[in-house]
Amino acid sequence: MLPISNVDDATKVIHAGIPEDAHGAVIPPIYQTSTFKFKNVDHGAQLFAGKTEGFIYTRMRNPTIEAMEDSVAALEGGYKALGCASGMAAVHTIFFALLGQGDHVICSEAVYGPTTTLLKMMSAKYGVEVDFVDTSHAENVRTAIKPNTKLVFVETPSNPTVLVSDLEEIAFIAHRNGAQLAVDNTFSSPILQKPLAWGADIVMHSMTKFLNGHADVVAGIIVVNDEKQYDLFRNVLNQLGGVIDPFNSFLVHRGIKTLALRMERHCENAQRIAEWLERHPKVDWVHFPGLPSHPQYEIAQKQMDGPGGVIAFELKGGLNAGKTVMNRVKLCQLAVSLGGVETLIQHPASMTHASMGPELRQQSRITDGLVRISVGIENVGDLIADLDQALAAA
Ligand SMILES: *Cc1c(COP(=O)(O)O)cnc(C)c1O
Repeated sequence: MLPISNVDDATKVIHAGIPEDAHGAVIPPIYQTSTFKFKNVDHGAQLFAGKTEGFIYTRMRNPTIEAMEDSVAALEGGYKALGCASGMAAVHTIFFALLGQGDHVICSEAVYGPTTTLLKMMSAKYGVEVDFVDTSHAENVRTAIKPNTKLVFVETPSNPTVLVSDLEEIAFIAHRNGAQLAVDNTFSSPILQKPLAWGADIVMHSMTKFLNGHADVVAGIIVVNDEKQYDLFRNVLNQLGGVIDPFNSFLVHRGIKTLALRMERHCENAQRIAEWLERHPKVDWVHFPGLPSHPQYEIAQKQMDGPGGVIAFELKGGLNAGKTVMNRVKLCQLAVSLGGVETLIQHPASMTHASMGPELRQQSRITDGLVRISVGIENVGDLIADLDQALAAA
């Protein structure tokens, strides 16, 4: 393998996780196989006992998956990574591995909708205690922590409100109380934010978004800091079964090659659009970590290397005006998901965050008029022209 530990991310995305290939293949081949032959019975037994190095069965380990995992682990500065079938499979694996009956978890109140729903399910079925707090004010974590708190789960920037939480401060609070910090880093990608460097114990991504970047794969990943944590998560993932498959791993690994370039363009385009929206007379407010008006602008400057590509905004005309804009755009597509090369626009209250219910939405400041836009890498002038004609009708 190439010496990739002390090179820039723009180099890592190209070279990390590329193993030496028997035939000299530049790109790791797709091992589209469910199982691997043993040389003889003793060899099989040694593999199962962990006494010799090799592959057994793709749910446990697969070379194509491992190459992609090594690439993401290198980008996050972690020990190793675990590819999952989806971002939610990664979230589930983390919760299942770390939370049992009577344990307490603190979660950011504005998170990906299904993460909230999953915690509510675990609370009802398994007796896990859950508190949703506004982690953009770290003191709320301090107040919510209890002797049985095992995990603090933070999404920053948060979905869909794009609020920012102070990772260094929250890691300090969690560790002082014997809890671990897991971070959903989907909105930033490892190019813009490295939670492990700020003290997080676990990082996860929906690779469906920026890491793959091409809106053609559903996948997730968990990155851990040490061998003990890795063995725990690998064992849990192996029993839960939510692993990624070799072909999707290949696609994600290919997408990662342009991640540094894409993030640069996402950030540039989104900054321009956020500034344009903020000046627009029909816009009430804009949340974007690259605007000095963002409530956690200082924290974003400290822990992020760029503002990302997702903007939340609300029109003065509220829900109806928002609906008009979303129905009128031509280049921006009305669809959920984010982080792809194409610009997507959506309405969280009726779409991604509908399952949260009105009360938790209100508490999390996901207003009915909030519009979320994931800015792609198109020409920014074309995007602004499209939004301009749609806003004119609002
Ligand atoms: C999309 C998303 C998820 C869930 O990922 P899937 O790949 O759709 O399962 C989790 N967290 C965030 C922040 C997301 O945007």
